[in-house]
Amino acid sequence: MTTSRHDPASDPSAHVQLRPDLGTLPAYVPGKSWPGALKLASNETSPGPLPSVVGAIAAAAQGVNRYPDNGSIAVREALAERLGVAAEQVAVGCGSVSLCQQLVLATCSPGDEVLFAWRSFEAYPLVTLVAGAVPVRVPLGPGQVHDLDAMLAAITERTRLVMVCNPNNPTGTAVGRRELERFLDAVPSTVLVVLDEAYIEYLRAEDFGAGDLPDGVALGRGRANLLVLRTFSKAYGLAGLRIGYAVGSPEVIATVSKVYIPFSVNSLAQAAALASLDVEAELLERTDAVVAERGRVRDALLAAGYTVPETHANFVWLDLGANAAEFSTRCAEAGVLVRPFAGEGVRVTIGDAYENDQFLAFALSDVATGLARQ
Ligand SMILES: *Cc1c(COP(=O)(O)O)cnc(C)c1O
Repeated sequence: MTTSRHDPASDPSAHVQLRPDLGTLPAYVPGKSWPGALKLASNETSPGPLPSVVGAIAAAAQGVNRYPDNGSIAVREALAERLGVAAEQVAVGCGSVSLCQQLVLATCSPGDEVLFAWRSFEAYPLVTLVAGAVPVRVPLGPGQVHDLDAMLAAITERTRLVMVCNPNNPTGTAVGRRELERFLDAVPSTVLVVLDEAYIEYLRAEDFGAGDLPDGVALGRGRANLLVLRTFSKAYGLAGLRIGYAVGSPEVIATVSKVYIPFSVNSLAQAAALASLDVEAELLERTDAVVAERGRVRDALLAAGYTVPETHANFVWLDLGANAAEFSTRCAEAGVLVRPFAGEGVRVTIGDAYENDQFLAFALSDVATGLARQ
């Protein structure tokens, strides 16, 4: 057989045709490994799963020759009962991050806009671009808090989705119920608002005015254009198993479910989520220790001269400007991994008292406070 010069099958230099717009997306870069370092970089819970949850995972492992329940029926029914909604109002996803991507796919045609604050959760621009939509970033207001009026003003006829991360990752700041309500009343009812409540379990009523504690599920009653995202990855301690959920109107939930990757919430994750709901009280009690520690850590940082916004989550944000990357590298050399955002700041997860002390030992050192002051 003769092959012509123009037969692409025989041209070793020919490239596969890929989506050109993905060329500008950053490729995944594995983090540098620091053997033995404490990990305060990903907002995980420090204690491992409770024994009953480990038992449920082990029992479910016996059945992994079978496909998982594609509808995650048992988990959705258990969540619906707890939240006082119908099971048709709950969707389960492979982490709430995959629900974020499903939401963009379910609402946006190419060129439609997804609006969110910046800085906020790093996944928002990525899932937006992957779905062929256009990210629109609205700067956070004073004190690194969501500027909801500016977000309202940024809504156009191309806006399909508005993401509000409350408390906000990575700054830890939160807006109260009344402000959210005012915002939701003003957003056109044709635009879907997603309230990402990955850290809601770390909110405390005493940090808000009377009746001002935000709760997306309560706010969503009677509002078909509000959808709430929550996760088992943070307070429930199942980050490694990948399971999160959405609560919204039956119509939105049904459409979001159409772009679900079949069977992507595995059977171990479903079993672990159910077992975690059974011991919910004990898991939520563990957040009290984190809340106490975050106050202690923030106070120590403020006293040392750092700028740290009031945090309502299981992490603190240190405003370090140009020194963020160096702070993070020095901290890793001192044995503690934190999450840098080059040119802006670092996010530090609140761990247990020992872990936090290790971090503070570095943060209060002359090297570190020098970087904070520059
Ligand atoms: C951690 C986090 C999530 C949860 O992600 P999973 O995919 O459920 O692990 C969602 N939103 C924000 C803002 C987060 O920080």
